[in-house]
Amino acid sequence: MNLPWAEPYRIKTIEQIHRTTPAQREDWIRRANYNMFNLRSEQVYIDLLTDSGTGAMSSAQWAEIMLGDESYAGASSYYKLKAVIEELLGFPFFLPCHQGRAAENVLFTTLIGTGDAGAGKVVPGNSHFDTTKGHIEFRKAHAIDCTIDEAFNTEIEHPFKGNVDLGKLEAVFKAHPRQDIPVCMLTITCNSSGGQPVSMENIRGVSALCRRYGIPLFFDSARFAENAYFIRLREPEFAQSTIPAIVKEMFSYADGMTMSSKKDGIVNIGGFVAFRDEALWRAASTFNIMFEGFNTYGGMAGRDMGALSVGLREACELDYLESRVGQVAYLGGLLTGHGIAVQRPYGGHAIFVDAKRVLPGVPKEEFIAQTLGIELYREAGIRSVEIGTLLADRDPDTGKERYPALELLRLAIPRRTYTNAHMDYIAAAMANVKDRAPKIRHGYRIVREAPIMRHFTVELAPAE
Ligand SMILES: *Cc1c(COP(=O)(O)O)cnc(C)c1O
Repeated sequence: MNLPWAEPYRIKTIEQIHRTTPAQREDWIRRANYNMFNLRSEQVYIDLLTDSGTGAMSSAQWAEIMLGDESYAGASSYYKLKAVIEELLGFPFFLPCHQGRAAENVLFTTLIGTGDAGAGKVVPGNSHFDTTKGHIEFRKAHAIDCTIDEAFNTEIEHPFKGNVDLGKLEAVFKAHPRQDIPVCMLTITCNSSGGQPVSMENIRGVSALCRRYGIPLFFDSARFAENAYFIRLREPEFAQSTIPAIVKEMFSYADGMTMSSKKDGIVNIGGFVAFRDEALWRAASTFNIMFEGFNTYGGMAGRDMGALSVGLREACELDYLESRVGQVAYLGGLLTGHGIAVQRPYGGHAIFVDAKRVLPGVPKEEFIAQTLGIELYREAGIRSVEIGTLLADRDPDTGKERYPALELLRLAIPRRTYTNAHMDYIAAAMANVKDRAPKIRHGYRIVREAPIMRHFTVELAPAE
């Protein structure tokens, strides 16, 4: 018999969590204005809001916390991180930031500017993450999504739904003068379209196209290790390659990268922006000093840089990635078994439930995926997050709702945190919601919303 995957770690410390009653949850979600970001963590039993900063650190990482060097300049923890970024990712220059969006702020300030400097400019890419799009639109530039069409049909089993449609990308390059395309952003893996990877073949294609048109290529790399694992799994050329070798090759095609270390860095906070070009790094370091901190700590404590230097390497261990992606697929298999439509193939960090198929009776104006998330919370105290109309936000020019092709409910799985028994519980709860779906005919309406990235703070009320 083939041995199955199993976690390459055992549990040394546990954190207690508690179940709650339906009456409690009803009261709490109403007080939270039906926005799951407003729930207190004690009101949640299993927290699938995000895999960001919610993973469990290893004993080796906790040891680095104690070794943290908190010197303002030249800390040894900084040099530990610098060595790993250079060896593992291949970038000679980097700036630590407090998290991924801070890295985006530094990068886009450098490449686009501030205020309305982005007016008339475009940043093509694949399913830009919400903070990335936020930073682009905040500068009055436009994010153009060139993801392949297959990504928007949850039933198509395409192995690399994060891929860029090179035809769409070239059309953007042809339609805009070079100076209006400050950068092309490639997101690995695509969070917003289901944790879907980008193939090495596609990375090579995007890189060649960017080079031909003289456009810098940066990777939004929050889940780079999971992307590398999918390349190994699904691209025959790499079946025998090591994860570090795949990682190194992936990044060799990029001019730089932004990183949210809260994902594949397996730390609770942190990020960085890395460059191949020294002049660009110099230009960016001015903004890093202004927004984040001096170049050798940026937005991070020394101890956190130390833990990150270990986490980046641990995230690239094959046994870890097998159990990580295996657990996500385990949940996907259970849900599929219950007849619940989820994005196929299963993504790296989360299962994305196709909410329109689970709740066909809820009109799109009433936030279908958000409605499903609230029902899952009511059912079992499980917190998830909407990747649908609330997140898509209004069109910045017209103020009209932008209804995305997919209404997804993301069940993000924190790294090394929950067991498969938790996965069983989640799947059973979702099956119960599906059983009563025919009675769910109404969703929610907006009571209050912010002008940008409204999903974090939006206040809702039942629509009827
Ligand atoms: C989380 C994330 C970001 C932003 O990072 P933060 O650390 O949350 O600021 C950017 N891009 C992607 C793909 C992400 O998943």
